Amino acid sequence: MEAEACVVGAGAAGGIIALELARRGIRVVVLESGPRHDFGRRGEYVRRYLRHENPWRSPLPELDRYTPGGPTPYVLDWKRVRGVGGSTLHWEGYTLRLHADDFRLRSLHGIADDWPISYQDLEPFYARAEKALGVAGTPDDPWASPRSTPFPLPPFPLSYSDGRFAGACRSLGIALHHLPQARNSVAYGGRAQCRACSTCHVCPTGAKASIDLTHIPEAEATGRVRVVTEATVVRLETDRVGEVSAAVFARPDKVEQRVTARVFVVAAGAIETARLLLLSSSRAAPDGLANRSRLVGKFFMSHPSIEVTGLARDKVHPYRIGFSTAVSRQFTVERDRASRGAFMLEFMNSAGPTPDRLAVTSGQWGEALRRHVQDEFGRRLGIRVYCEQLPDRANSVSLNPRVRDYFGNPGPHIHYSVGGYERRALDEAKEIAGRIFAAMGLTDVRRSNLMFAAHQIGTHRMGTDPSVSVVDTNLKAHDVANLYLVGSGCFVTASSSPPTLTIAALAIRAAEHIAARLHPTGRVAPSVSSHEHEPRLTS
Ligand SMILES: Cc1cc2nc3c(=O)[nH]c(=O)nc-3n(C[C@H](O)[C@H](O)[C@H](O)COP(=O)(O)OP(=O)(O)OC[C@H]3O[C@@H](n4cnc5c(N)ncnc54)[C@H](O)[C@@H]3O)c2cc1C
Ligand code: SF4
Repeated sequence: MEAEACVVGAGAAGGIIALELARRGIRVVVLESGPRHDFGRRGEYVRRYLRHENPWRSPLPELDRYTPGGPTPYVLDWKRVRGVGGSTLHWEGYTLRLHADDFRLRSLHGIADDWPISYQDLEPFYARAEKALGVAGTPDDPWASPRSTPFPLPPFPLSYSDGRFAGACRSLGIALHHLPQARNSVAYGGRAQCRACSTCHVCPTGAKASIDLTHIPEAEATGRVRVVTEATVVRLETDRVGEVSAAVFARPDKVEQRVTARVFVVAAGAIETARLLLLSSSRAAPDGLANRSRLVGKFFMSHPSIEVTGLARDKVHPYRIGFSTAVSRQFTVERDRASRGAFMLEFMNSAGPTPDRLAVTSGQWGEALRRHVQDEFGRRLGIRVYCEQLPDRANSVSLNPRVRDYFGNPGPHIHYSVGGYERRALDEAKEIAGRIFAAMGLTDVRRSNLMFAAHQIGTHRMGTDPSVSVVDTNLKAHDVANLYLVGSGCFVTASSSPPTLTIAALAIRAAEHIAARLHPTGRVAPSVSSHEHEPRLTS
């Protein structure tokens, strides 16, 4: 196969790059390791989810082999998806912009590093990403950085429990505000309005944005994008001048095939992108492709997280809405971040054990069981905390030759630890949550164990100095002239906001640069109407 651009991965980053390039007349081959998860089978996937099975499990589980290590091992299970749409098939859809201060930790607080681009550089691309994904929100976040456009969709109303949280927060001087999300508060982009059916990890209506619905159909309809599924890139080959000449991929039959292209974009998620570069070592690049800095795989980050719950006297009606509607970013900026991380408070609409969990753990039967579930269910309120993690070189993705994937390649080893910076922030967050619960009159306040968000960040950081970074501000690898690495792997710091809106904004920005490079005269093929080819979905 031959293309102008070859994209590895059809998730948020890869799907957006493919569509943006195709709109500019560029022929693209996308190689996606996973299958197409047919929208028509969402009912079956919902049933798996309700049975507490992984709805998006890989058809080839051997592809997902990895080893967790370090003091607080980062477990990847349920934290990524292979398939057209990538992890957006499973995600919650919360889409906050980073704050302008998040790009300047070194300048403002003397720690970590500044990004080589600013919030202002990214702002127009945030606006385009919000439109493409269909973000519902309202500008009531006092800590949001300035925006040039309104949210494309109106916000979801605050829930019953948000109202109870809001009163207590107000009495403590804490601002609670709407949570922006890529979910249809009204019908948008050919997709249905959300029905509040509460199974958002598998959305049966298509109201939750996922790249298989928002980008891939339009990209394919241009006639310029070919998506090859169940095609795992096993290495990138380079030519004599050190540019990538081919992406070598294999399908389940293990027969190797090649795609040649002028430009290659690896958008395989922070862990698999780093692994693919390390797997693509050669005599000229013995430490791995694009790894002269020896930083590929380093500075892996996530968002350490806890949940704090409290017991109300009366019913608080959880689990009626599958997603959260309110947060507070009061503790994310405008504070001393030199010694403890920023954190975000998410006011959960679903907390405490579900009726089935209460039932199977009760040891009761018949009428006693019915009464137990009725009395116990629906009285817990919860606050989830996402904390900023500092980049630490020791937290890293490397190859583990003792663990082989389906194709016989070494799997990733993830070394991970959470330090004092993050733990101090989580302790402070727990104390604040405790004050909110006390103001609400809740009892039996409990803190969960340390958890980690399904956000994989770092591993090919962006920078202007090739000795301390892997990609430049256009996400081009410093060492390889025709290789781009797109995704949250390029983040310099993690902030406390979820990463995907920023992934999308950076992908649109990188696509503009790649298109200008491939077609310097600005030749653009006729654009395909963004509505003509949108999927028409209803519940
Ligand atoms: C349960 C869950 C909830 C989440 N909630 C949120 C949220 O609310 N907000 C938020 O911002 N983020 C959230 N995330 C994270 C979000 O989904 C990811 O940040 C985002 O999808 C990453 O996009 P990506 O394109 O970089 O990577 P991915 O979506 O992981 O896509 C990478 C793709 O590359 C493919 N691939 C990997 N290796 C190869 C290879 N060698 N060859 C070919 N293809 C390959 C994979 O199969 C995959 O399809 C959540 C994630 C999960 C799992
Ligand atoms: S509540 Fe239902 S319709 Fe709405 S996004 Fe979640 S799964 Fe989709």
